[in-house]
Amino acid sequence: MEEFVGLKEPLVVINENECKGCGLCVDICPQKVLVQKSHLNRMGYHPAGYLGEGCTGCGHCFYACPEPGAIAVYRKGYVDPAKEAK
Ligand code: SF4
Ligand code: SF4
Repeated sequence: MEEFVGLKEPLVVINENECKGCGLCVDICPQKVLVQKSHLNRMGYHPAGYLGEGCTGCGHCFYACPEPGAIAVYRKGYVDPAKEAK
């Protein structure tokens, strides 16, 4: 049987130091799995964060975010090309 190496669940990754803490992603997420963190990032903003489960990979947060590079959304089954090459 072939080993399943892709993501088992959709995943959202927030790059905290690119986040301006605007909260748009938190508000728009239909699953309510994003929150504003209490700590400050290096620019002095409260960054968004993922609760760790429940993301469906819909991408709404990605399209709502005004900061390029702050949010990445990975669909179920995504395979990191860097890991695949090894
Ligand atoms: S991809 Fe969709 S479900 Fe996942 S965190 Fe973003 S808005 Fe929420
Ligand atoms: S929409 Fe982007 S900049 Fe705004 S809180 Fe979410 S990740 Fe940060």
